Amino acid sequence: MKIDVLTLFPEMFESVFGVSIIKRATDNGLLSLRFVNIRDFSEDKHKRVDDYPYGAGGGLVMQPMPIFAAYEHLSEESEEKPYVIYMSPQGKTFTQKKAIELKEHKHLILLCGHYEGVDQRVLDEIVDEEISIGDYVLTGGEIAAMAVIDATARMIPGVLDSEDTFSHESHFDGLLEYPQYTRPPVWREREIPEILVSGHHARIEKWRREKSIEITAKKRPELLKTAPLTEKEKEFAKKFLEN
Ligand code: SAM
Repeated sequence: MKIDVLTLFPEMFESVFGVSIIKRATDNGLLSLRFVNIRDFSEDKHKRVDDYPYGAGGGLVMQPMPIFAAYEHLSEESEEKPYVIYMSPQGKTFTQKKAIELKEHKHLILLCGHYEGVDQRVLDEIVDEEISIGDYVLTGGEIAAMAVIDATARMIPGVLDSEDTFSHESHFDGLLEYPQYTRPPVWREREIPEILVSGHHARIEKWRREKSIEITAKKRPELLKTAPLTEKEKEFAKKFLEN
């Protein structure tokens, strides 16, 4: 999978993706990541990429020409049209389901706005989808793009050691994850649940499933409306909802 980011600040991405799991994925060729500076595509002699907004109001708006030129340059390399996402507080909120969906694209382009945002005409021309990372406004789209890249990349087969790593994780199947414990078995007089050292795989799985349901009911009860629960599990969840 190839992900290109159109940004005015490519250097912001280097340290985030230059370590750990995503670095290994790029080194292994499972993912190609490029951070493309929109300014390199400006034809202005001072490499300017923004200008004052039409109508009243302060701030600066990113001009359409350099963004379009960068997009055309990246598209020429691709056999099929890249799928273009504009990181925007006006988009649909990013979810785990969306990350799983995005990993199916061969070539994604993430466009990061800055200042007051981007001239609407280039958005109308090239953007397939707008994605937000929450109902608040960031200075620029870079932090949002990092979240989308990270969550999407770890869904690519082979990026994590095994699918087991994420198939029980929060949000993957509509529930939150059960509590995790590691050594030592006793810490500040707090013991790990005995079942986890019983060696009884089926009972451990049952305990984890029940804990997932309990935690979801307590922390995010609205998720239970769409979580795939059996009738018996729905009854079990009610115990925690009523409290
Ligand atoms: N004036 C715009 C508005 O009110 O909709 C906000 C512009 S914001 C200051 C600058 C850039 O940050 C946006 O163009 C977008 O790329 C990015 N951005 C801000 N908040 C975001 C969010 N919640 N999710 C994704 N991107 C965001």
